[in-house]
Amino acid sequence: MKRKLVVGNWKMNGDRARNRVLLDQILGGMPSGVDCAVCVPFPYLAQVNEILEGSGIALGAQDVSEFSDGAYTGDVSVAMLADWGVRFVVVGHSERRTLHHESDEVVARKTVAVLDGELTPIVCVGETLAERESGVTEQVLMRQLDALAAVLPSAVLQRVVIAYEPVWAIGTGRAATAEQVQAVLSFVRGWLARHVEAANEVRVLYGGSVKPETAEALFGLPDADGGLIGGASLDAPSFLEICRAAA
Ligand code: PGA
Repeated sequence: MKRKLVVGNWKMNGDRARNRVLLDQILGGMPSGVDCAVCVPFPYLAQVNEILEGSGIALGAQDVSEFSDGAYTGDVSVAMLADWGVRFVVVGHSERRTLHHESDEVVARKTVAVLDGELTPIVCVGETLAERESGVTEQVLMRQLDALAAVLPSAVLQRVVIAYEPVWAIGTGRAATAEQVQAVLSFVRGWLARHVEAANEVRVLYGGSVKPETAEALFGLPDADGGLIGGASLDAPSFLEICRAAA
């Protein structure tokens, strides 16, 4: 069976002192039998890389430029991330799609850049509440996923991680129900089956208000391979309990 993957997305939180305490606690209690990564703000990549060294917990970033170098003030390239030991890069998080106006095409080009650099993109897809309520969830997901297939050959697409994150469930305390999540994950799996050779080997995660109390049911879903955890990844006991639920 595929090992589950639990990814902490710290978003714009932390400082050097708090990072150290949080990671010491996490390292002290990490169960075996689960793959884990933490996606930290850019300024802390070096610090967290050093703390995690040799631990088995992978380092991740939360965004990246689609370009390799040049006059892109404020941006960070895939090679720079790789230089600091980064292995996973969150791409197309809804906060970036909304606050930074990242289109499906930009997200797809960033995904290409990450894969070209031999890192693993965690591509976030998901519908807003208005889209769910008007019954277009699958169309939205299809549009977001099709943008990837438009620029990635099947053998390369095979290496992505997909995170289904309904926008209305992110940071709201209102996780999608297990039935809602499974319905969408199975839709994503079906899409993958049409685009890659080994759809079952692609990891498909759920994210959006995952808490210790809900993690086990969500990770137990037939098509769930783990989770992308925001708020709860900043609290070591909660994050560890979520990791144990996936182990
Ligand atoms: P949340 O965030 O767990 O705080 O809802 C998830 C995410 O945005 O990745």
